[in-house]
Amino acid sequence: MIEIRVKTDARIEMVDVTEQVNEAITKTKLESGLCNLFTLHTTAALIVSENWDPDVTDDLLRQLQKLVPRDANYQHSEGNSQAHILSVMLGTSINIPVERGKLKLGRWQGVMLAEFDGPRERTVAVTVIASH
Ligand code: ZN
Repeated sequence: MIEIRVKTDARIEMVDVTEQVNEAITKTKLESGLCNLFTLHTTAALIVSENWDPDVTDDLLRQLQKLVPRDANYQHSEGNSQAHILSVMLGTSINIPVERGKLKLGRWQGVMLAEFDGPRERTVAVTVIASH
């Protein structure tokens, strides 16, 4: 297992971590298997989305904030309930096949860390399970 660090610059944003994850997979020297990505936070998430047109993730973030408003008489005193709820909705873990030492992604797919309570430094655990 390798941990990667991701710096975020805004309260809410998507950060493409595909290349960082591929670099981590290279360090494992495993060519084929399954890559589990897990972020060790309760106010961030991991998703696969389009990484070519940034409007796609902008639209996604705008709609998510409509679904889960920032203020809604939440009880949690930290004031970041929106971030906790969006983290649970999108999920903190994803699995992606590994082929020839890299993530096997579709042409338009990228792995994004979804930040909902930034800016911060986030940690993503990268675990590759080899297949034969
Ligand atoms: Zn909180």
